[in-house]
Amino acid sequence: MEFDWAPVYETARPSIFSVTLIPSNESRAELTSLAMRIAGTVGGLTQDQRDNKIDYALRTMKCVTGFSVGAVVQGQGIAILTCAHGLSEFFKGTDPITPEQINRLFTVRVTCRHNENGFYAAGGDLMNGRRNFTLGRVARIDYSRDLMLVVINRAHLRMHGGAVCNEDHPSMLICPGDPDPATSECLMVSCPRLKADLMSLGRISTRRTTAQLNTVNAVGFNFEILEVQMVGGHGSSGAPLINREGQVIGLLHGGDSSHSYFVGVQHLRAFLLQQGPH
Ligand SMILES: [Zn+2]
Repeated sequence: MEFDWAPVYETARPSIFSVTLIPSNESRAELTSLAMRIAGTVGGLTQDQRDNKIDYALRTMKCVTGFSVGAVVQGQGIAILTCAHGLSEFFKGTDPITPEQINRLFTVRVTCRHNENGFYAAGGDLMNGRRNFTLGRVARIDYSRDLMLVVINRAHLRMHGGAVCNEDHPSMLICPGDPDPATSECLMVSCPRLKADLMSLGRISTRRTTAQLNTVNAVGFNFEILEVQMVGGHGSSGAPLINREGQVIGLLHGGDSSHSYFVGVQHLRAFLLQQGPH
């Protein structure tokens, strides 16, 4: 009998967030110099193309998906695990990057699915209508593993219209072991802008390392990849890959027209176990 993913999907949905990184105007000079350094490492570009690339990096919001995790958070915080490669126009994997630096250079905005769905139910679209965002801050980053932890104040989480969102956003469980090879089918739930509650089903195909993915390794990522037969969309980066038990077995790093590449669950466990202030 075919496995019924509907209950797993229903349980996961309220734990999924949309996370947006916005380059700060006040730090434009520093961001420009960081972006120039990265653009300088890309071969075969004319000066105009390089300038356009830097200009685009400074003007563009980076939208990714995140999910609540059971990391220790003092007080009324929600910890959201997401990817770090929204910063790839400014940093390389070999750079030392601190949360303080990211919080100074970028504004971090978070919305939950209840807010996103409320916005569209009220007739809003990207060009029309006021959106309510919640400001977050980066608490931890491991850029070489493409992992970042964002913390928001629970009491500041907004619904569309401005009221506090009183819905539950339960922490997702990280799988304590390796994915079961006997059940390769898996689920991804993501929250790209315009598409909250996006569901994708796939099958685990194999494991690789970032060294086998030329395009992404150019910025210095270093981790084991879980390759899945699944096509992910723009803005799904950072989304959890979920097994039949509802446990997280990977975090979306990127993909191509046939496969998606997830950061291996062992890296998620190690990252969340690190000690550090929130
Ligand atoms: Zn909510």
